[in-house]
Amino acid sequence: MSQDPLYVTRPTLPPRDDIEDLLREVWDSRFLTNRGPILQRFEADLERYLNVPHVSLVANATLGCMVALRSLGADQGEIITPAFSFVATAHAARWLGHDIVFADINPKTLNLDPSDVERRITSRTRAILPVHCYANPCDVAALAEIGARYKIPVVYDGAHCFGASDQDGSLLRHGDLSVVSFHATKVFSTFEGGAIISHDIETKQALDRLCNYGIVDQTHIEALGLNAKMSEIHAALGLAQLPYVARDIENRAKVVRRYWDRLSKIPGIRCVCPPNREGQNYYSFPILVGANYPMSRDILYQKLQDAGIQARRYFYPLLTDLPMYRDASSDGLEAARTAAEQVLCLPLYPDLAPEDQDRVIACICDPCA
Ligand SMILES: *Cc1c(COP(=O)(O)O)cnc(C)c1O
Repeated sequence: MSQDPLYVTRPTLPPRDDIEDLLREVWDSRFLTNRGPILQRFEADLERYLNVPHVSLVANATLGCMVALRSLGADQGEIITPAFSFVATAHAARWLGHDIVFADINPKTLNLDPSDVERRITSRTRAILPVHCYANPCDVAALAEIGARYKIPVVYDGAHCFGASDQDGSLLRHGDLSVVSFHATKVFSTFEGGAIISHDIETKQALDRLCNYGIVDQTHIEALGLNAKMSEIHAALGLAQLPYVARDIENRAKVVRRYWDRLSKIPGIRCVCPPNREGQNYYSFPILVGANYPMSRDILYQKLQDAGIQARRYFYPLLTDLPMYRDASSDGLEAARTAAEQVLCLPLYPDLAPEDQDRVIACICDPCA
């Protein structure tokens, strides 16, 4: 049996030739950044591909979340967000000086529980920042209704969501704003990168200005912007990658179906993302290791590690346990805490070989071997 390390994810890349043509364009034009011609083409292609009104490309999704939240206003307050997420979600809001109010998740979907969000709204709430975790849709209708009733904007951290949809289109069309990541570990990558999705041209232009120091023109600077722009090289990587993303998602689906067939009936294991729901991008394959599995999640994690399999506890530790969030309330977050204690994401990428996948499956089926 091969003992080559198996990583939790491994990026696919477009053929080098596809990139070379675009690089030649950059060298010829000498536009390296500042909304160059390749970036503008990439934005237009993404608007078409995702069928969303407006795309603002950014250097990464963390800056995207910061710019999106900042565009709602500069006064500080509270941001309600799930305790079960990647650190970047809460960090983006905290970096702007907001207080973080963690809300619990629905134990079934692992997404923000709207009724718990509503309980935590105060006069200082500035925004709701939900995450479509593993690209499974949040209860978008309930969150939109709460946002409208309390006049609080909803900004989605849709970092995982490229290519994911519900019955009416891309998940990224929900909320006042949505942010998606193009990091190397996501379904679609520009190595580093991301985008903010907005619904009218004035908002898009305001977001673009915030990403460029707040500059309106040579003599007018309207806001305390920062530099969150995407470069021409990153946009070229995206343009070259876009024709392959649908194929990548199909290949991910095959891997996910194989995991589901072998693992979904194992006592004590719950597979969070059944492959039969329409519109998935198969970003991740999280399992929850329950009390009636023969060993704890952490012991299984170590066994996989010893077999050269790099599963990942996304997301652990719970954000309230991190030093910078110790002042946030950790009450009533039982479902988030259980998910953080049980979750394990298995290796998943488009060209994961079946024999390598079988090494992962064998470890989980027969953990005491
Ligand atoms: C990856 C990720 C981010 C950050 O994206 P970057 O583009 O790397 O900044 C934010 N939120 C979640 C939930 C993520 O998984």
